[in-house]
Amino acid sequence: MSSPRVVAVTPGSPADRAGLRPGDELLALNGEAPRDVIRYRVLADEAVVDIDVRRGGLERPGSVVRVRVEKRAGEPLGAEVHSALFDRVRTCDNHCPFCFIYQLPKGMRKSLYVKDDDYRLSFLYGNFTTLTRFTEADLERVVDEGLGPLYVSIHSTDPDLRSRLLRNRRGATSLRWLRLLLDHGVEVHGQVVVCPGLNDGPALEETFLGVLDRFPELASVGVVPLGVSDHNTEPDMRAHAPGEAAAVMATIDRWQRVFLDVLGRRMVFAADEYLLMAGRPFPETEEYEGFPQHENGIGMARTFYAEVQAALAGAAVPSPAAAPARGGFFQWVDGAPAEGYRSPRRSGAVGLALSDDGAGAAEVALLTGGYGALVLEPVLPALAEAAGRPVRALPVRNRLFGGNIAVTGLLAGADVAAVLDAAPPGGVRYLLPDVTLSRGVFLDGSSPADVPRPVEVIGTGGDALVEALGA
Ligand code: SF4
Repeated sequence: MSSPRVVAVTPGSPADRAGLRPGDELLALNGEAPRDVIRYRVLADEAVVDIDVRRGGLERPGSVVRVRVEKRAGEPLGAEVHSALFDRVRTCDNHCPFCFIYQLPKGMRKSLYVKDDDYRLSFLYGNFTTLTRFTEADLERVVDEGLGPLYVSIHSTDPDLRSRLLRNRRGATSLRWLRLLLDHGVEVHGQVVVCPGLNDGPALEETFLGVLDRFPELASVGVVPLGVSDHNTEPDMRAHAPGEAAAVMATIDRWQRVFLDVLGRRMVFAADEYLLMAGRPFPETEEYEGFPQHENGIGMARTFYAEVQAALAGAAVPSPAAAPARGGFFQWVDGAPAEGYRSPRRSGAVGLALSDDGAGAAEVALLTGGYGALVLEPVLPALAEAAGRPVRALPVRNRLFGGNIAVTGLLAGADVAAVLDAAPPGGVRYLLPDVTLSRGVFLDGSSPADVPRPVEVIGTGGDALVEALGA
């Protein structure tokens, strides 16, 4: 087990006043070595926190000092630490044929290849867990410390099919933990990744029936299509045909009506990708019932339209479109680092300095993925009118992943660079949504400064886009 290492101290915070500084290792808070940032937060919540600090990373006598922090109980300490977990991340023991990690190209950041199945990351970041490695002690902690909401991969409620989908016989039984979590009043959201020919059709009907019958307390169930990259090696894994996407949508429609009748809420929600694939309009705001799985790509298009519409009208961006991202549950945990492409996004226009080209540009090009371009299409005329110049989508084909991967959040810098290379050198202002970046870099490790034309990085929301256009 490692100790939390301070990576940043908020100026003026209790940690700052007490003299903590980046590089300090926090060996114990009030005598306890925290095993994760959740426990760290609980320990740091006290009004008086005695911290054993190792400075300089040296194991010599006197290198450990005791620092006393005095503050209001519950006041954040103000020290960001290097990781969310200080013991080992619990990795998954499944071998799902649809696993996206097996479909990643080689040579990316090592952390992207970690198959985590750790309820703590579910709580902190909204990662989905299959519960195949969940234990009685985990249940006790979740309940005692109120660690919710949690996010559980269901895929199928049929034990045999679920164990085949996870390639793990514990897949057949691990949903008993879901039942226990719900029994203890923990808020849980579920997910079904639909693999055509495997868990769609009658199997999906069976799963929705299983949810209604055995897990009606679930807060929501997101239904997302299988992503298949060019690096997939599983012969049975394939993208949906358009007719299959339409059939999944029809099943969701039918079951939303059943859930509404029986439970008074819709329960199951289709990923935006399904609506695009099936060529259907996005549901209205109220049909998303508060966007419980927004960060899972469910309702993002609808919130984007609401943000654009409100910003163009000069109105306040309506809630829930204005609600903070739900994937970042770390946001309440002082000190937890923002990780992966779920890291918090900047709101508003936060562009790099506007280039001379950009300031006098005759038109604006919005860099986006294939799906993003489809979502943008209906609002481009209004954006152009408000901006006083043409505004167009500039879709970037994802060559890093290939296959049917077309979401904006998985764009690689090299692919953005290739599109810009072929674009006119001047007269165009290029805007790039910050969902493409994590800690300032693309998935392939390159940065916006490496691309061949000046780009401005802006917030991903519709209001940020309108603001950036100066409309
Ligand atoms: S549970 Fe998740 S991480 Fe593990 S193999 Fe399946 S898809 Fe991959």
